[in-house]
Amino acid sequence: MQTGKINVQTENIFPIIKKFLYSDHEIFLRELVSNAVDATQKLKTLSQLGEFKGELGDLKIEIELSKKTITIKDKGLGMTAEEIEKYINQIAFSGAEEFVKKYKDKAEANAMIGHFGLGFYSSFMVSSKVEIITKSFKDAPAVKWECDGSPDYKISEHKRTERGTDIILYIADDSKEFLEESRIETLLKKYCKFLPVEIKFGTREETVKEGDKEKKVKKDNIINNPNPAWTKKPADLKDEDYKEFYRELYPFSFEDPLFHIHLNVDYPFNLTGILYFPKLKKSFEAPKDKIQLYCNQVFVTDAVENIVPDFLTLLRGVIDSPDIPLNVSRSYLQSDANVKKISSHITKKVADKLEELFKKDRKDFEAKWDDIKLFIQYGMLSDEKFYEKAAKFALFKNTEGKYFTQEEYLDKVKTTQTDKDKRIIYLYTSNTEEQHSFIENAKDRGYDVLVMDSPIDAHYINSLEQKLKDTSFTRVDADTVDKLIKKDEAQPSKLTEDQKKNASADY
Ligand code: ADP
Ligand code: MG
Repeated sequence: MQTGKINVQTENIFPIIKKFLYSDHEIFLRELVSNAVDATQKLKTLSQLGEFKGELGDLKIEIELSKKTITIKDKGLGMTAEEIEKYINQIAFSGAEEFVKKYKDKAEANAMIGHFGLGFYSSFMVSSKVEIITKSFKDAPAVKWECDGSPDYKISEHKRTERGTDIILYIADDSKEFLEESRIETLLKKYCKFLPVEIKFGTREETVKEGDKEKKVKKDNIINNPNPAWTKKPADLKDEDYKEFYRELYPFSFEDPLFHIHLNVDYPFNLTGILYFPKLKKSFEAPKDKIQLYCNQVFVTDAVENIVPDFLTLLRGVIDSPDIPLNVSRSYLQSDANVKKISSHITKKVADKLEELFKKDRKDFEAKWDDIKLFIQYGMLSDEKFYEKAAKFALFKNTEGKYFTQEEYLDKVKTTQTDKDKRIIYLYTSNTEEQHSFIENAKDRGYDVLVMDSPIDAHYINSLEQKLKDTSFTRVDADTVDKLIKKDEAQPSKLTEDQKKNASADY
């Protein structure tokens, strides 16, 4: 047995770590399971490189609960005593006190955990004692390390023979909630649902047929889908696969999405993901099903406000990028150049996809328009680049239910609806029922009337009036029909009688 002090310049790491992440204790599980995944993936890589020549065997990660402990078991590369010394005992955690003072905000503290390689130490947020029992894939004896959160640790040889690592958490009295099976299952489903290595938690009964008989058998309860759709090639996926993945992401959403966008970027940053346009409900409740952010298949957050442009936060789906640090804090995200690039890239992709849909199947696009117009108008209002692209496929709808692009609509009305000052007047109704008689009068006059009746339309009209040349929008009930578009009738004709004759002969 050997003892030593963890290399931190502070008396006791336990209270500091507790203080650090006061309201986010649950992330310890994410940190420990992702370490187990890392250890497994590293072993696979070593095997591919020929540096590990043994059998990989079953690489499942297991989470076990007892009355007092949670154990996270992997069959990854393990650690030697020297590696424990290097990776566990030496914490880059100088000036911890200062940090706690500076980063009182929970999100900031969350960011610090990853930053300072404190993932493993987050286990002390919920544990009164932590043990590591590990055997490296290298030819070295197994080791047991234990620590109660003070800088003192013990390290000793252990009899374990199989490769891999067990992390045993002795759950502290104030964290007993984490000994409940349902709590752990919920957390695993939240953070680990798409981790790339199978994760087993408990067992479940399954009925199998054996000849004529049915038999109940116990099967491993696997938490995750290690190969989620977004990690596959778009060419290998059918429309139905995307819908199925949507249901996997949002089991309580009963309606299929309108369409999806598969993101796949490797330059200038890495990003994959699938975004879905949901069918919006008329009543705007705060959406429960949000875009989820992953980092190498580890769930990070569904608060993606700074990564995805505002107008796309109503979309659903996943974004996975190793270039977004696992532990994100708001102020960090706002200032990060990568994140800004990601945001503008997503905007561009969404615009490209919409344009493609529009060109490929205009009928279908029109059918979806009423559901997607909110996103598109909001995007056009808030993002100049998006406006430029969307101006090609954003549609106007008239009272007859016909759809027009900006260009088409201009062509349609410019001869009939140009006023004496050469301004083109777009007539619109904000309420087809209340303004019914005005609409009919305008139509009798040969005018066309647009339906612009959503709350965002007022802003949209404002912005279009600034962008479209010589164009004004007039509400159809703003005046009597002969004053809606002021024409030039009063002016005497400058044509001679002869010219008049010729002109009428043209008709
Ligand atoms: P990070 O994962 O960011 O490196 P952690 O504090 O989570 O920081 O882990 C520190 C180090 O401890 C890891 O980099 C790894 O070398 C080692 N480690 C932690 N858990 C395991 C494990 N289950 N198997 C092997 N090594 C591990
Ligand atoms: Mg880690």
